[in-house]
Amino acid sequence: MARHDNCIFCKIIAGEIPSTKIFENDDIYAFADLNPQAKVHALVVPKDHFDDVSQVAHERPELLAQIVEVAKTIATEKYNGQFRLVFNTGEDAGQTVFHCHAHVLTGEKLEGE
Ligand code: IMP
Repeated sequence: MARHDNCIFCKIIAGEIPSTKIFENDDIYAFADLNPQAKVHALVVPKDHFDDVSQVAHERPELLAQIVEVAKTIATEKYNGQFRLVFNTGEDAGQTVFHCHAHVLTGEKLEGE
């Protein structure tokens, strides 16, 4: 597994920082966001470290498809299969953790766009 030593999500994936697991397979880990913005707010992350989603798209595009599949699985298990998927990419877009993650928002009818 490609890992960055000072990355908080790499530590969560390794079990060194506790998290509420929602889904896991060989490539992907999903856990509850500490500061939920919807009834269900999961973070879906590749286990290998990539700084952001554009790096994943460039280097491992099949992982991107897996992330969307996992989002669908979570939304189907927790709600009616519908969900919002957000990748903040870069500081100006609100990215604060530089390990690629998808915000999966579901569990209720969401306000806004
Ligand atoms: P970003 O702003 O798109 O980078 O999203 C980072 C997300 O990680 C935020 O929604 C935070 O609430 C969440 N977060 C940060 N640290 C933890 C943690 O230790 N456990 C779960 N979620 C976290």
